Amino acid sequence: MDVKVFTNAMIYDYDRFIKNGYIRFGKEIVEVDDMQNYKETPGDEVVDLSGYLVLPGFINSHMHIYSTFARGMIVPYNPQSFKDILLQLWWKLDAKLDEEGIYYSGLVSAVELIKNGVTTVIDHHASGMIIKGSLNTLKKAVVDEGKLRGIFCFETSDRFNVDEAIEENVEFMKESSEKHAGMFGLHASLSLSGETLKKVSEVLNGNPIHIHVAESYEDEQDSMEKSGTRVVERLEKFGLLTKNSILAHCVHINEHEASLLKDKGIYIAVNVTSNMNNAVGLPKTKLFKEYGIPIVIGNDGLGYNITRDWMNLYFSQKLLYETPTYFSMDDLYEGIKNGYKLASELLNVKLGKIKEGYKADFTVVKYTPPTPVDETNIAGHVFFGVFDKPDIRYVLVDGEYLMKDGKIHLNEEEIYSAASKVAKKVWKRLK
Ligand SMILES: [Zn+2]
Repeated sequence: MDVKVFTNAMIYDYDRFIKNGYIRFGKEIVEVDDMQNYKETPGDEVVDLSGYLVLPGFINSHMHIYSTFARGMIVPYNPQSFKDILLQLWWKLDAKLDEEGIYYSGLVSAVELIKNGVTTVIDHHASGMIIKGSLNTLKKAVVDEGKLRGIFCFETSDRFNVDEAIEENVEFMKESSEKHAGMFGLHASLSLSGETLKKVSEVLNGNPIHIHVAESYEDEQDSMEKSGTRVVERLEKFGLLTKNSILAHCVHINEHEASLLKDKGIYIAVNVTSNMNNAVGLPKTKLFKEYGIPIVIGNDGLGYNITRDWMNLYFSQKLLYETPTYFSMDDLYEGIKNGYKLASELLNVKLGKIKEGYKADFTVVKYTPPTPVDETNIAGHVFFGVFDKPDIRYVLVDGEYLMKDGKIHLNEEEIYSAASKVAKKVWKRLK
């Protein structure tokens, strides 16, 4: 592979800041240093990044690509509860997704994710019209054609054919690469019977699960009614709390449930913008912290802008605890770094640092600091100056351009025009 060098760039990976540095890379990073130590090597493809900031490619740790066609969708909608939101909106849409619908929501998402600087996505998928092979269709669109890294699973629930959903997860998890992997997908306790959970426990084989947990209080109520235990206890009882699992939301878990998650290598994916939109409450990150449970950050498929969720997490936690000093930028960056740690383990690669030996996955933004910048204040520059509206110009995965000088590698117009026709067909089926 060709060797590329970014020169004269600001470089930051939430640990180290280089004000004027260079990165030499192929699929992986070969060398990172200050420009003072730069020596040009013949044959290197040199890109001068004066006025640009290089960050690790962004990660979205809980996404629903199937929500793509919800934009502009009109259905009778008057939810009185979270369950109503599922019934009146999301379960109507995912039930009517076919292979073509999955493929085009995957391609549109690839375009949008790249434009938002995301290079790795952890998706939670559901499609009622096709289960078998659905994850491969997603992978084809997002990873093979979109060229992103993707981790996929199918939301097993009693809404769909349980055996088929289980088989789809098991089959997809059999193969992985540096670009893709599977987890065992479960929708949520409230859509899973004890019988289904037992079936899952019999085939899980220590693999990580990806499930919504206590997103609204109804999930806890339902679990108490069904099993006499709370959601996390219920999952524990079936032996489903495996290492590297993602429990999304956990808005309503209590101390006892948090204690069950301690020291298990389990991650809680927080998605505060979606929580606010669904009016379900906010994750209590102090509780998670107290029990040493790492958070990762997703957006629950509410658009594609992951930096918005990063910012909203920071703001919402201050509001929740009514103190401007709780939830620091370090807390936020820890959450972002945890996402890389988890994805690195699932894909068996090194992601998230701009350091020798790590994958050359970058998001490069145009950034002219209006105030002095150095290693002591770069965190604030990035939060307030970049995340608010990242001016993304280059996106790379494995050292390959997904966006170059503002232009993405996919044919956006063609994809959107085809997707719009497919969306029309999906919407027609909702009636
Ligand atoms: Zn979700």
